[in-house]
Amino acid sequence: VSSKLPGVGTTIFTVMSALAQEHGAINLAQGFPDFASSQRLSELVAHYMRQGYNQYAPMAGLPLLRQRIAEKIDGLYGVKIDPDQEITITAGATQGIFTAIGALVNPGDEVIIFEPAYDSYRPSIELFGGITKSFELNAPDYSIDWNQLRRLISMKTRMIIINTPQNPTGKIFKPADMQALEKLVGGTDIILLSDEVYEHLVYDGHEHESILRYPGLRNQAVAVYSFGKTFHTTGWKVGYCIAPPNLTAEFRKVHQFNVFSVNTPVQYGLADFLEDPHEYLGLGTFFTHKRDIFLDAIEGSRFRPLLSEGSYFQLCDYSEISTEPDVDFCRRLTQDYGVAAIPLSVFYHSKRDDKIIRFCFAKKEETLELAGKRLREI
Ligand code: PMP
Ligand code: GLN
Repeated sequence: VSSKLPGVGTTIFTVMSALAQEHGAINLAQGFPDFASSQRLSELVAHYMRQGYNQYAPMAGLPLLRQRIAEKIDGLYGVKIDPDQEITITAGATQGIFTAIGALVNPGDEVIIFEPAYDSYRPSIELFGGITKSFELNAPDYSIDWNQLRRLISMKTRMIIINTPQNPTGKIFKPADMQALEKLVGGTDIILLSDEVYEHLVYDGHEHESILRYPGLRNQAVAVYSFGKTFHTTGWKVGYCIAPPNLTAEFRKVHQFNVFSVNTPVQYGLADFLEDPHEYLGLGTFFTHKRDIFLDAIEGSRFRPLLSEGSYFQLCDYSEISTEPDVDFCRRLTQDYGVAAIPLSVFYHSKRDDKIIRFCFAKKEETLELAGKRLREI
């Protein structure tokens, strides 16, 4: 058959997790925690399942859960969001991204993404006939040259996808970035898709720059979030999307035929769990500790870290160890040294290879220690 996505194979996360499993390697490749999620949250979900809350949820999501999300957003970012008209519960952020692009990007529209970029953006854009315009972050600090970006914007620019904290670089937008963004596109008809799945994972005294904090951008923005990342439950695939009423209305037109609605008992459990902000307020500290354990564990190795400011990823330069392509190096690291990582080149359309790989540190202390021991031996 003729393929709608001719350039697309199996995602690197599937490939590397399979390779890690085949070789019994420690999987620091695909981003997911290896520690337990909250027992109380599981009990809540199980409770609702046993009580018979097992039929379709409302299309936009459980009203109580949307209410609790609005309270959370108000507490975190000081913004009032209308739970009925501005919040939609999704099957993870992946569906939020896909549905937003499907609802808002027309064939021939241009969508700007920042590379290295999370892998789902480009295929989603192209499946709906959009044209991806990639803009490379400045390696090795992965900052954005906003004056250069201005040149990429054209009459056809329909959307810009931003992601802070960023996967895979671990970089975060600073207030100056948000101000530059606002100056560049605030008030235009360009839609911003803001991927904020790592909103709580921000380190070293910085604050998360949610697009929701910026009145000059918020009216043209769709923001996506993931309970999988926030509550260590990536396998549950529940998240949400926040957008002004006109964009939410378009989003839901697609959402209702994409998934219709999302897992009912999980939504009830999350609604109860969200009542206590302590369940997410300590996450920055929790993951700073994990990042630092990993950094300590690789100290004395020949991997050079490019300090992560957020997300649960740490980039490392391996050029002191080898000159081989990063894809080959990751394969060998998994097979011969028992640690799986993700090569950075796969996040670039150009396959640009800076001899940098991505490690996930959302792991138990002993996993990080053991991985560090192996990495020090290379
Ligand atoms: N965006 C980014 C930047 C991610 O790293 C991920 C993945 N984990 C997602 C979106 C998808 O999130 P979810 O698992 O909720 O679909
Ligand atoms: N977001 C996760 C990562 O970057 C993986 C998600 C996936 O496997 N699709 O590793």
